[in-house]
Amino acid sequence: MHRRRFCVANWKMNFNSSDTKSFLENWGKKDLNNKEVKTIFCPSFTELNTTAELLHNSDSELGAQNVYYESNGAYTGEISCRMLKDLGCNWVIIGHSERRAIFGETDEMVCHKLDKLTSENMYPIVCIGETKDERENGKTEEVLSRQLLVAFENQKGKNIEHTVIAYEPVWAIGTGITATIDMISEAHQCIRNIFNTNGFNGNEISILYGGSVTNENAAELSNITDVDGFLVGGASLDVEKFYAIYNQL
Ligand code: PEP
Repeated sequence: MHRRRFCVANWKMNFNSSDTKSFLENWGKKDLNNKEVKTIFCPSFTELNTTAELLHNSDSELGAQNVYYESNGAYTGEISCRMLKDLGCNWVIIGHSERRAIFGETDEMVCHKLDKLTSENMYPIVCIGETKDERENGKTEEVLSRQLLVAFENQKGKNIEHTVIAYEPVWAIGTGITATIDMISEAHQCIRNIFNTNGFNGNEISILYGGSVTNENAAELSNITDVDGFLVGGASLDVEKFYAIYNQL
């Protein structure tokens, strides 16, 4: 898989079963002719099954918002790769800033999750991004570099072409404040450079932007050279807004 365009919906802890059905039934009626864009829906664990059924025979794919890195055992409340694969779920978001900030997910845990997903031939969407303080103190590059190099420590020499990166500045997530075009462009180039100077081919990796993407700013953001698509939270809960974003990719 070479670089391609993605439109990923992160529904977070929102939709129940009737919300999921109503959204995806509407989605199914849309003219989804933009074959260049891969659309992935990431519902809560409880809605994976319903989502899988509703996406059956469609070009959209199923993703999870998290996974645990052990195969099985006494890990109350966790979900394994095998369980996800059983449902036809191959994509998994890891290292989301909400997982990092609220649930204590560390760079090392992201590394274990990435190792597990790649060993299971699944497709990770690895989220990275700086906080407001880190940006204001000129640490953005250092943070992105640390997050990536720890996460990818065991991937050197391996094929990581199915791995997608989502650059999500923490201060832009769910705040209505979108990073500027220059900030996004610089960060995406910086991410490609980090890969290129550490034994990976950064030019082949798809890098998504996430952080208050809406139907109103998607056109402008999708024109940034190094942006290969979006990871969308809030606006992915509204079928019309998400469809408008998809259409602008
Ligand atoms: C996200 O949760 O990954 C995200 C980008 O959220 P929002 O689009 O609401 O900022």
